[in-house]
Amino acid sequence: MALSPKDVKALVEAAVETRDVEIGCDDCLAQVADYAERQLVGHEVPEALRLVAHHLQDCPECHEEYEALLDALRAET
Ligand SMILES: [Zn+2]
Repeated sequence: MALSPKDVKALVEAAVETRDVEIGCDDCLAQVADYAERQLVGHEVPEALRLVAHHLQDCPECHEEYEALLDALRAET
């Protein structure tokens, strides 16, 4: 997989921003439903949920879960 310089810069910045705080899959999955709902309605994402967003970028498994949740939420509305 080839990354453009812009992608690399974004990755580096994301890594620097969250250097001290990282969450694991358990924490991510505990909050991902809340995160998905906020995304769907366009609410602002609080600081705590930014960690979820960051984890989702790094973790394909949780991202898959997130996508499934979004689909489920969209189906409800
Ligand atoms: Zn994960």
